[in-house]
Amino acid sequence: EAPKALLDVNGIEVIYNHVILVLRGVSLVVPEGKIVALLGANGAGKTTTLRAISNLLKSERGDVTKGNIHYKGERIDSLTPADLVRRGVIQVMEGRHCFGHLSIEENLLTGAYTRTDSKGEIAASLDMVYQYFPRLKQRRASQAGYTSGGEQQMAAIGRALMADPKMILLDEPSMGLAPQIVEEIFEIVRDLNTREGVSFLLAEQNTNIALRYADYGYILESGRVMMDGRADELANNEDVKEFYLGIE
Ligand code: ATP
Repeated sequence: EAPKALLDVNGIEVIYNHVILVLRGVSLVVPEGKIVALLGANGAGKTTTLRAISNLLKSERGDVTKGNIHYKGERIDSLTPADLVRRGVIQVMEGRHCFGHLSIEENLLTGAYTRTDSKGEIAASLDMVYQYFPRLKQRRASQAGYTSGGEQQMAAIGRALMADPKMILLDEPSMGLAPQIVEEIFEIVRDLNTREGVSFLLAEQNTNIALRYADYGYILESGRVMMDGRADELANNEDVKEFYLGIE
């Protein structure tokens, strides 16, 4: 039996500044409980796709001009980013965006601002974040601006967890990080997926690592899905190997 679609993106077109056509009808599905990778070169449209889903294009002068987006069967394209956060759809932006002058713990707590449940439940989420990211616990009192790139990426994911997510849209988590740290972060993503049931849509230029952790992948080229398939099938596909995995 096919898994239920948590997120269903259907034929979206995105235009920047009324003239620059960047997505030319992108469709993809994230089934409940899965990790889906959105792959492709720099400029292929990965970030634009994530921003279209979380309705963050307006500030970039971008508009979704065709298609529709459903989450749990409900149409979400006209909801605000805050509405989406309340429904459990959380974006972790590329480049991490920590508040540099706040401590790691204060950064994490900013993730809980839309929650209306008790202080106790928010404290429990903080404990959960520290369980998954022991490094953040050690660095809880450090000013985020003085922590490493890896710690800031962890804090960005931790902040998303503080919002009690069902689905995380994770933009380029490997960017600028050493391979060992990238591996550590992907291991945690996998644990969050299997133990907490968080679904992920993961934009990555690092095809190799993304396909090792994802269940399914979509490859974007110039704003179109050129290929999609199970992660293990894509990893063994000759074209994917040649163009995206490097020649071995
Ligand atoms: P990256 O690895 O840089 O995140 P990407 O695959 O996520 O790449 P996008 O950032 O979505 O690609 O960009 C897709 C295309 O849209 C690029 O050609 C980019 O130059 C263009 N673009 C992005 N933002 C804007 C904008 N605000 N105005 C005009 N064009 C834009």
